[in-house]
Amino acid sequence: MAHNEKPTALIMIFGATGDLANRKLFPSLYNLYAKGQLDKFAVVGVARRSLTNEEFQLRVKESVTEHGEAAANLDEFVSKFYYHSHDVTDSSSYIALGKLAEELDENYRLDGNRIFYLAMAPEFFGTIAEHLKKDKLTNVTGFKRLVIEKPFGHDLESAKVLNKQIRTAFSEDEIYRIDHYLGKEMVQNIEVIRFANAMFEPLWNNRYISNIQVTSSETLGVEERGRYYEKSGALRDMVQNHMLQMVSLLAMEPPIKLTTDEIRSEKVRVFRALRPIIGEEVNDYFVRGQYGQGSMNEKEVPAYRQEEMVDPDSNTETFVAGKLMIDNFRWAGVPFYIRTGKRMKAKSTKIVIQFKDIPMDLYYQREQTVNPNLLVIHIQPEEGITLHLNAKKSGQGTEATPVKLNYANKGIDGLNTPEAYEKLLYDSLRGDATNFTHWDEVALSWSFVDNISAVWENTNEHSFPNYESGSMGPEAADKLLKNDGFFWWPVTEIDVDNC
Ligand code: NAD
Repeated sequence: MAHNEKPTALIMIFGATGDLANRKLFPSLYNLYAKGQLDKFAVVGVARRSLTNEEFQLRVKESVTEHGEAAANLDEFVSKFYYHSHDVTDSSSYIALGKLAEELDENYRLDGNRIFYLAMAPEFFGTIAEHLKKDKLTNVTGFKRLVIEKPFGHDLESAKVLNKQIRTAFSEDEIYRIDHYLGKEMVQNIEVIRFANAMFEPLWNNRYISNIQVTSSETLGVEERGRYYEKSGALRDMVQNHMLQMVSLLAMEPPIKLTTDEIRSEKVRVFRALRPIIGEEVNDYFVRGQYGQGSMNEKEVPAYRQEEMVDPDSNTETFVAGKLMIDNFRWAGVPFYIRTGKRMKAKSTKIVIQFKDIPMDLYYQREQTVNPNLLVIHIQPEEGITLHLNAKKSGQGTEATPVKLNYANKGIDGLNTPEAYEKLLYDSLRGDATNFTHWDEVALSWSFVDNISAVWENTNEHSFPNYESGSMGPEAADKLLKNDGFFWWPVTEIDVDNC
């Protein structure tokens, strides 16, 4: 579809009474509508409980008012929303849904285009896809696309089973696996920063970069997601998808063209070059943590093991730090450090590219003996880029001092950047799968992560809980870098807002 063409489709949201639909999907759809980016469309909300269309429309209205920026056309927007009370295992329920879909397709002239958005618990993904095929909802005259939320499986084996199930009804080209980090403005910016700037790409290799650090820290604890999180942990919840996706964008070769296939194949090559960490090596390359009690904003908070639906002896990690090596010509010898965790000191997702020191320090620097050049990409909550350079300290003498060149995304645009979900929904409607995860990426990242969970699952971590709530994780995570002569650049001090 050409960029200026407006998409036309029937959007079916499975899990329409859930948290994701309410907080993200309805407000995002509304934003697209309000910007005039949707042409002909209708939405069917599908969920278990029974609701009338009017009750459902009211919920959508409330969701947009609460989480978005509602305006006068909200009534018109919600008038296109319909509700279907559904049992995911019952064919007759799908057949009734199919009838409703046909009616809406005709009434709204939707060209037989259908988006099936699965915003519900992953154990239903396979069953739904199989029923969509069996009960003929995928027999369409236009396009059919499956948009599917994380987690995509629990390990490689379960991901393969799920993939096989959904592939019975949809081809790989029709599957849009959501990784909402790929919808974030500054994650999408990684490629532009790298490939549109003559001053970076020549330096983007092991001759000039000493290490790369990717941090994604949360201040929240597990909240009410204990049941899910106990089976997942930070490795599966964050590393397998979001962290490895960011690494692949940082490390990939320039694509020949900016097409979905070219970009994906370069990303896949990064995953293929990722050094597997197996058996006892896991202890040298990875650190796990679990939060203990502590204080956040001067409020006492409980340890992970005291949270609801969490085993009091839980061995689940709420923090992971790791050192990744990409064994190819460009990156040989350059560590990519990643860390992610809950209940940490700051909510921050940042990438720090640390350049190698110049061969000889001619200038005395008061603050530190060395001030390496850094390129910091601020992903969230603030969005921007900071370049750390050295300049002459004003006045007499030849002392150097660090200076920061700063680009704050929000400051320039004066607008909130579009939510990741808004962009990804729009991409799926337009048929652009670039910012979704291909099966090859899913499979390779699970095989990398499975080697680590295999070791962790078989050994209890006796030091748990090993970091205080409100800290930046366990000491071992600092040691991981210290052993290589590095340290984590503190996320709060390099904030774009503080520059
Ligand atoms: P939720 O528990 O809030 O909602 C689940 C929805 O599924 C509800 O609408 C419920 O009615 C429906 N449902 C459950 N069982 C059903 C059944 N047997 N038949 C028909 N409908 C049924 O879940 P959520 O937080 O909205 O998450 C949905 C998906 O999105 C999950 O895969 C989750 O991992 C993923 N996700 C959620 C978020 C988030 O912010 N909530 C973020 C990223 C990914």
